[in-house]
This record gives sequence, structure tokens and C-alpha cells, in this order.
Amino acid sequence: MPELPDVEGFKRVLAKNALHKTIERVVVNDARILGQLSVRTFASRLRGAMLVGARRHGKHLMAKVDRGGWLTLHFGLTGALQFVRSRDEEPPFTRVRLDFSDDGRLAYVNKRMIGRVGLVEDAAVFIADEKLGPDALDRRFDFDAFRNAVRGSKRDVKSVLMDQEIISGIGNIYSDEILFQARIDPGERMDKLAPAQLERLFLKMREVLKTAIARGAGSEQFIERMPKGWLLPERGKGGRCPRCRSPLKVFKVGGRTAYCCPRCQGC
Ligand SMILES: [Zn+2]
Repeated sequence: MPELPDVEGFKRVLAKNALHKTIERVVVNDARILGQLSVRTFASRLRGAMLVGARRHGKHLMAKVDRGGWLTLHFGLTGALQFVRSRDEEPPFTRVRLDFSDDGRLAYVNKRMIGRVGLVEDAAVFIADEKLGPDALDRRFDFDAFRNAVRGSKRDVKSVLMDQEIISGIGNIYSDEILFQARIDPGERMDKLAPAQLERLFLKMREVLKTAIARGAGSEQFIERMPKGWLLPERGKGGRCPRCRSPLKVFKVGGRTAYCCPRCQGC
């Protein structure tokens, strides 16, 4: 499921390949991904236009349109953004495609239809309307801001990390990795964390997300490039702790499946 690092990877695909090129053709293979927006409106707003900037907030990607407004992309559970040459075949499960006049296509692919492609007038208004909290890697979101955002919460740590209204960008998978590396039980109550644990949680949050971006999250080769000692490749049936080799414990926290090491995290 695409989370902050994956969407950052998609942003780089877009920024590297799709900016300042005229959109010659807009293909919508499945209108459901546009929600209320009509195919006609969507296509007419983009045809002949150019994307001139890319911005990410949490798990949302936005591309500025030269005529005004922003193209918004949310990837749900299985979405991705791919750039292919015109002679290449369209990737499977392409829902929306932008064909550029200079031999290139940007494909929004999504096997399951959860996710959304849209158009908004203003990126900041969109972020406010979606009730998104600060992006987890925003420079202004420092330790003080983090502490203020989570302070006093009686909910479990994993649910708070995943609450997009508190911190934007972290989902089920990266919350497990962050909590593993911070050696914190995902089911622990946020307000029970010691000050040192809270600080470690913040530092590991930034470190894990930045490392995943640097290693190419969002690309198909990411699994092989993941750092040694990470929990993520062990997330699954029969997984063991990469540190102490204990079998991982799997349980529900706030309705989501958490993987953790009982020995290292005391869960
Ligand atoms: Zn362990």
C-alpha cells in the first residue's frame, strides 16, 4: 500500500518525466476513479495544458496545471504512477493516462479501484478539506510540533501514527517499521510513553521514511534494496525478528494488523 515514501517516489517519476510538456491526449479507462468529476470536464481541463510543478502532502500527490488548478492523485491500496514511452504497452490496470506530445505517457495504475484522481483549484484548500495533518517529513514538523500533536492521546501508538489528521503520510506498513526500530509496543498507549521513548519515536519516524525514499520506495525493486535489519521483509506469515530471530507476533491494533517482536518491543 503506497505510503509517504512510495508517493514521494511517484512524485519523482512525475517531476523527472512529465513536467513542462504539452498533454496531447487524456485517456480515462475507468471513470469510477474520478468520483463525481466527469470524464469530459477532466479531459478538457487537461488537454493542451502542461504540468508545471509537483507537490506531495502525506500520501497525496498534486501536480500544478499551467492554466490554473491542480491535478490530485491518491493511490489507495494498490495505486502507482508509471512513465512509459509511447511505443511501450500501456501498463496493466491503467485507469488514467496522460499522453504527451513528445513521446511519453504518464499512467496512473490501480489494480483495486480504491484511490482517486481529481482536479482542485487550490492545493492548500484541498489539504485543509481533506483534514490532513502536517506531512511527517515537513521541516516545520519538528520534535516540539510532533510532541504537541500527539500529547495526551490515550489511543494506541500505532493508531496515532496512522491518523492522517494528526500526522500525514504513515500507514500500516511503515508504522510497524518505525515502532520496531524505536522498540515500542504498537499497542502501547501514546500518553504512557516516557519522554525518551517519544523522542526516539520521532527520530525513527523521520529516519525510516527518509531511508525508504533514498532506497527507492515505490519502485518495483525496492524490496531488494531495503536495508538489512528492517522488519518489513519479515512482515508476513512465519516472519521472524531480524534482530533476535524470535517469531513475530501478529495482532490487531485499532482494527489494523500489527507485526512486532515480543522480545524487542515487549508486545
Ligand atoms: Zn526481536
